[in-house]
Amino acid sequence: MSRALALSVACPTCRASVEWSHANPWRPFCSGRCKGIDLGDWASDRFVITAGESADALSGAASLGGDLKQ
Ligand SMILES: [Zn+2]
Repeated sequence: MSRALALSVACPTCRASVEWSHANPWRPFCSGRCKGIDLGDWASDRFVITAGESADALSGAASLGGDLKQ
């Protein structure tokens, strides 16, 4: 009973089955391309836009979150 179990996860980008192992540097993604797509999407859609002019909105959201917690 000592054989290694291969744990599989679904790639967040394309839903392909990915073996979760140290041999896969892209986990939980199936490939660098899927990881790049995910990061690129996040960066272009949210981070870059927010970094532009809404530092205020960002801190406003942070304090709003603080209010909600209390
Ligand atoms: Zn994928």
